[in-house]
Amino acid sequence: MGATVEQALEQLKSTGVRMTPQRYAILSYLMHSMTHPTADEIYKSLSPSFPSMSVATIYNNLRLFVEAGLIRELTYGDDSSRFDADLSEHYHAICRSCGTIVDFDYPPLTDVEAAASKETGFKVEGHRMEIYGICADCTTRHNH
Ligand SMILES: [Zn+2]
Ligand SMILES: [Zn+2]
Repeated sequence: MGATVEQALEQLKSTGVRMTPQRYAILSYLMHSMTHPTADEIYKSLSPSFPSMSVATIYNNLRLFVEAGLIRELTYGDDSSRFDADLSEHYHAICRSCGTIVDFDYPPLTDVEAAASKETGFKVEGHRMEIYGICADCTTRHNH
């Protein structure tokens, strides 16, 4: 599991970023959500408590958190980035029907990196691996 909100706040403070109630709300929402939300989804759930907050504000704060190394931005070729507060090594399974992203643990594919390095001469820095399919919810829904 990732860091607690409090640890994240300490880390943010050390980079000189001022903590505001909005930032706190965005960060704790991300750290408690397992759904890898988009800026839009965060906006929809936080706007009742923060009526003056815009999607742009949320997006700017997410960028800030990414730069501070608190969260990870996930881009999957569509137009909206998703954000993940779980910085541990894990892979994602993505539903092609509803877009949901589910974490799953699997030993990092370091042998693939080694093979790539050997064949291409690259100094490998990392890799991406995603599983695509239809999630359990969608499968159930389609069978009814
Ligand atoms: Zn689905
Ligand atoms: Zn994840």
